[in-house]
Amino acid sequence: MKLTDNFTINEMTYSVTALANKIDNRPSVEVIANLKSLCENVLQPLRNHLGCAIIVTSGYRCPQLNRKIGGKPNSQHLKGQAADLVVPQKKLKEVFDYIKNNLPYDQLLYEFNKKDKWIHVSYCSNKSNRRQAIDNYAAESFS
Ligand SMILES: [Zn+2]
Repeated sequence: MKLTDNFTINEMTYSVTALANKIDNRPSVEVIANLKSLCENVLQPLRNHLGCAIIVTSGYRCPQLNRKIGGKPNSQHLKGQAADLVVPQKKLKEVFDYIKNNLPYDQLLYEFNKKDKWIHVSYCSNKSNRRQAIDNYAAESFS
């Protein structure tokens, strides 16, 4: 099911860890509404600007999946309000700066650990967005 032109429910809920551990990561109606809002307000406008693929490495996480990967207990991924993403064809820092300066968001993190770097971005449709941006966030657990 499409959420916007370039984003589907499938990619916003897909998880290798969920599949490997037989975790049912299907979203509720409320979660779907939040994912759609995140795509409509942040991810699709970003995709339109970049003109190339955005890889969502983690979108919605059910509580069981969130625990399994070591996500924070209050993570916005639990509500379908957040996505972790990379853009292989662009410099990630430039993508971060574009979101920061041009798009709505609740929390925007340029995250890294020993192996990887990625952008975490969240959006709230039901309350005002904090516009908290951190450009060098050492990930000890997943936000
Ligand atoms: Zn995240």
